[in-house]
Parts: sequence; structure tokens; C-alpha cells
Amino acid sequence: MDVQFLGGAGEIGRSAVLIDESLLLDFGMLTDSPPQFPVRTPSPDAVVVSHGHLDHVGNIPALVSGDARPPIHWTPPTYELAMTLARDTLKLHGGTVNCPFTETNVRRVTQVSETHGYRESFEAAGYEVTFYNAGHIPGSAHVLVDDGDTRLLYTGDFHTDDQRLVSGTTARPGADAIICESTYSDVEHEPRTTVEERFVESVETTLWEGGTVVVPAFAIGRTQEMLLICEAHDIPCYVDGMGKRVTEMLGQYPEFVRDADALQRAKSHARFVTGKDGQRKRITDQKAAIVTTSGMLSGGPAMTYIPEIRANPMNKITMTGYQVQGTPGRDLLETGSAEIDGRIMPVSARIEQYDFSAHADRDGLLEYLDSYRDTPVVVNHGDRCGAFADTLRENGYDATAPEVGATVTV
Ligand SMILES: [Zn+2]
Repeated sequence: MDVQFLGGAGEIGRSAVLIDESLLLDFGMLTDSPPQFPVRTPSPDAVVVSHGHLDHVGNIPALVSGDARPPIHWTPPTYELAMTLARDTLKLHGGTVNCPFTETNVRRVTQVSETHGYRESFEAAGYEVTFYNAGHIPGSAHVLVDDGDTRLLYTGDFHTDDQRLVSGTTARPGADAIICESTYSDVEHEPRTTVEERFVESVETTLWEGGTVVVPAFAIGRTQEMLLICEAHDIPCYVDGMGKRVTEMLGQYPEFVRDADALQRAKSHARFVTGKDGQRKRITDQKAAIVTTSGMLSGGPAMTYIPEIRANPMNKITMTGYQVQGTPGRDLLETGSAEIDGRIMPVSARIEQYDFSAHADRDGLLEYLDSYRDTPVVVNHGDRCGAFADTLRENGYDATAPEVGATVTV
């Protein structure tokens, strides 16, 4: 198999892996200003998508323009998330160069969509393809591609530890070559239970003292994880932003979450913000947690909440994920002020960060790859792919880290 990396090699964002010019795995976009896309738009015979994050599905509708109608294979939640993200991109950038597809393209995606569950093999562009639970977000999959001669395993993003929303990956299908993500190849996560304990204690303390806690969270996965934690510890909470819709949607796919009853309880426990009649401003003096997009404070209803709660040192802002350099979330952590909705705002409310990651850390990656000792490893999806490939080679692996545009033969 000839495997070309059209994006997401030596970088995070715009993942796109093309096999023999025929089968495309993922077609994402990199959120930046301006957004970036894979280096070219191929004409594949079929498309297979690992999971519903923007950096893996963001540019999918561009593949069904002109006469092109390749079937797109994914799990049901991945399909739903891709459509939600595509409509959001249209709303933000539609009609500009920052959106390489139209409303018509998005509608066509529905016509070519083919959904599959885990461990149900299907045919795509002449290959046999199988999804395995990757433990990253609901519907996320490792993708095994078999041409009858070679079995290529594309890990997609994965987590080896359990989260409240999804169980960690346990599938280790046999493979002759593996493309492995490496987002946190140089990081050791604090154990999840400890992160959760610290978070809960901090939020509860603030609420007892009469403060409000704003919890910026990504819409997909993280928002639901925060709602599950709030329900488990009986923390009063509101939920706002795109995470509301995603929470409703995931309720329809119980087989893709770890505990559907717990998610249902978390949904009932949280109060969904409608935003009507000044509700957002009104709830900022409630002793409650407000779980809201965006996770890095670069938009969404957080833009209303932060200005309202920022002046009172009794209040708190708890970041729940990695903050990319240059985002308001990162600025706030580093300097105590950030540009919110076009205005530089100093913040007296306390600011904290918690690592609720949905990716395997260094130990998790090594533990996962321990099942593939004799399998050539191609490292992608990371800022330090080369260094991780070096580490693997020192440990006896056959490992490489191609650049964007490169083709490797497996
Ligand atoms: Zn992801």
C-alpha cells in the first residue's frame, strides 16, 4: 500500500491519509486564522472517517463537489458530529475562502453516508475495513484496512484509560503496519481520578463561598464529561453552547457511550440554557457551574459569561483542556487578562486549569504499541512526531515520522 499524508503528519490538525490514491482516511481542517486544509483535495473512490472532531472531519463536504460522490463510511455518532460541525463552519465562514464547501455539498454528504458499528467489516474502494472502539469520544474508531495482502491499522485519536463518557480502547487487532497518533507523546497525565477530585473540590469550595464557576468546555466529548462529573457529585450546573445539541444527539446512541443511564441522568441534572430574556446574565450570580463553549474562550456563550463574572474574585474560571497558544484561554492562564469579544479584559476571578484529556499520554501510547512490537509504526498527529519515532526506534521498533506530502509504502 502507498500511503500519502495530505495533512496531520508532524502536526495536529487537517488529518488526511490517502491509500493508493483510492481510499481516503479522514479529511479535516486546522482551526487557525485563517483555517488550514489538507494540501490537496483528492478524488478518492471511498472515504473512511475515524471520529467526529473538526481536525478529522472538518473538510469532508468538499469531497462531494462537482460530479464526485464517493461513499463516506463512519459510525453513526461520527456522521452526526460531522454534519453539526459542517453546518457550524458554514455559519462561521460560509461563502468565504475559509469555507471550501457549500450548503449543497453538506446536503450531499447525507446521500453518500454509510454508517457502521464497531467490529462490523465492510467493503470500501475494494478494501475490507473494520472499526474498533478507540476510547476517545463517542463513535471514535481505530480503522483497520485490509487489501487481502497487507493489514494497515490507522489508530485515529485514542485513549487507553476510561473516561466517564467512553471506555478506553481495549481492541488490538492484528496488523502489518500501524499509523499511530502521538498528540501527548511527551506528556504524562495526572491520573483521571485525581484530576476529577481536585476539580470537584475546587468547584464545590467556590459554590460554598457564594461564587459562580464558568467551565469552558469543547462541545464534543468534554461538555458531556463535565456534565457527568457534575451529576456524580451533585454539583448544580447549567449547560450552554453547541454542547447542548451534542448531548441531546449522543442520548440517541446508547451503544456508543460507556454508561447510557449515567448520561441520561447527567442530561436531566443539567439545566439547559435557552439564552432567552437575558437568562445568561441572570444566571451568572447563581451558585452553580456553567459548562459552556468555547473550550478556549474564542467564541460561544462564554463570551457573555466571562465579562459578567470576571470582576468578582469569589468567582472562578476552570479550563478543562489544553489551550492553544494565541487563544484567549491561553492568554488568560498566562497573563490574567484576555481579549474577549474584541475588548482586553483583566480578570479578578480565579483561573484554573485541569487536564481532562481524551488522548493517551506517553505511557498510554507505549502500552498500546507494546501489542505491536514487530509491526512497523508510522507516527503522525503530533507536534513532536520525530522525537517519538526516535524513542520507539531506541526501544527496538521500526518507526518513522513522515512530513506532510510524503508517501510511505507499507
Ligand atoms: Zn480527536
